Amino acid sequence: MNWQYAPAKESTEQIKLQKRYQHFINGEWTKPNSKKYFSSINPATEEVLAEVALGNAKDVDLAMQSAANAYNKVWKKMPAKERAKYIFRIARMMQERARELALIETLDGGKPIRESRDFDVPMAANHFFYYAGWADKLAYAFPNKNPKPIGVAAQIIPWNFPLLMAAWKIAPALACGNTVVLKPAETTPLTALVLAQIIQDCDLPPGVVNIITGDGDVGAEMVKHPLANKVAFTGSTEVGKSIQKALAGTNKKLSLELGGKAAHIVFDDAPINQAVEGIVNGIFFNQGHVCCAGSRLFVQESCAEEVIAKLKSRMQTLIVGDPLDKNTDIGAINSKAQLQKIKMYLQSGIDDGLEMFQCHTTLPSKGFYCQPTLFLGTAQSNRVVQEEIFGPVLCIQTFRTIEEVIEKANNIPYGLSAGVWTDKGAKIFNLTSKLRAGVVWANTYNKFDPASPFGGYKESGFGREGGLHGLMPYLNK
Ligand code: NAP
Ligand code: MG
Repeated sequence: MNWQYAPAKESTEQIKLQKRYQHFINGEWTKPNSKKYFSSINPATEEVLAEVALGNAKDVDLAMQSAANAYNKVWKKMPAKERAKYIFRIARMMQERARELALIETLDGGKPIRESRDFDVPMAANHFFYYAGWADKLAYAFPNKNPKPIGVAAQIIPWNFPLLMAAWKIAPALACGNTVVLKPAETTPLTALVLAQIIQDCDLPPGVVNIITGDGDVGAEMVKHPLANKVAFTGSTEVGKSIQKALAGTNKKLSLELGGKAAHIVFDDAPINQAVEGIVNGIFFNQGHVCCAGSRLFVQESCAEEVIAKLKSRMQTLIVGDPLDKNTDIGAINSKAQLQKIKMYLQSGIDDGLEMFQCHTTLPSKGFYCQPTLFLGTAQSNRVVQEEIFGPVLCIQTFRTIEEVIEKANNIPYGLSAGVWTDKGAKIFNLTSKLRAGVVWANTYNKFDPASPFGGYKESGFGREGGLHGLMPYLNK
């Protein structure tokens, strides 16, 4: 049965986007040296939302100088408890402007308003709250280690959780006494720029946070800039590797949060209905634009028929469409390029002769949308099983024994996350110790908390964000 709901569209009347945004350098809105701007569009409608400064090496240099200056003259000298007050203030002001932030996140990136309102924005504010609490307790966090800030951090983030990734980067860096230059992704720069307004309104000393916009070249300039003592990157494994190469032989600190291809494992003693909800949440949440998306499903043979039937039935009820509608489950794909990439993978699955299941929802005629998709009877050798698709596409395999599923789950270059569904605690502990993944969820999926660390193994990167561990990449000990 396909449920029909009356539209419940969130109004955008209260928010005012500027026509043009400049870089935020040394506490001021600064015109780009190139005098050029690029547009950020709404992927749900393909309409231009605003123009944003196109950075170049000169802008990067200015931002780095301003961050170094603020670090040496103000931030590193400030008592930690005073630094904490600023970070708390940012968190509170984000809460005050939560509705606006959620709307802009949805407009700029295409994710459903329910997600930006209930997940992205509250989590981002919570990150600032959490790390504000650590600022004056670093000596307790790392006893006998005399932790010291590193200096200037160059931070580069992707488009899938634009505000949240900015919070993951900025909050621990400031709490540890560093200053930052941050670059948001080209397709989703707007909430980072609203965050810059918030930071300005909080009277954070000029230069402590600098936000510059532009393409990958700006990111590359930030990485190699001599004043950047630390590089923190979240994005694709390909770019992560190029950054690692660029930094080889330097003494800059590096943390990389890269791609993933999580295994979701369901045993026949699992609560099947909950597992199906978890699977749906794991891969279709945020259009599958999630590094830890549960994109490979391993179902025990004895319950495969039931799980797949329930999954297909649940997928029929998913609503794909206008991200501003509060009923929408799956919003717009972030960009045309990403949609093309997903389509390329869909074709590769078809070419491999895989059985494909899609719900028969009609997609909006404008904007970038993709039907939630299953590939059944997949094998380890299929490209759709090995590579990160970063879209709402789930590849299903069956298994018989625990040994078999562990081997298959680990047989990929990535190791970011995994999910296990079973009634038996012993099975959970057995698997969690053998799965090579940074996070393993048991009988749930995609649960986050600022106090728990997140990060990967193998080609999913190194370094942790969140929790006590998230302080380490920003400290010399
Ligand atoms: P991406 O292409 O690697 O871009 C990430 C950021 O790096 C963007 O700001 C990008 O700028 C910039 N960039 C591009 N080329 C660069 C270069 N040569 N040097 C420095 N910076 C450069 O990744 P994406 O497609 O935006 O994001 C999706 C990827 O992020 C997925 O693989 C996903 O798994 C991963 N991710 C991982 C985590 C995690 O915690 N492990 C979290 C979220 C996402 P432009 O936008 O201008 O290209
Ligand atoms: Mg956009």
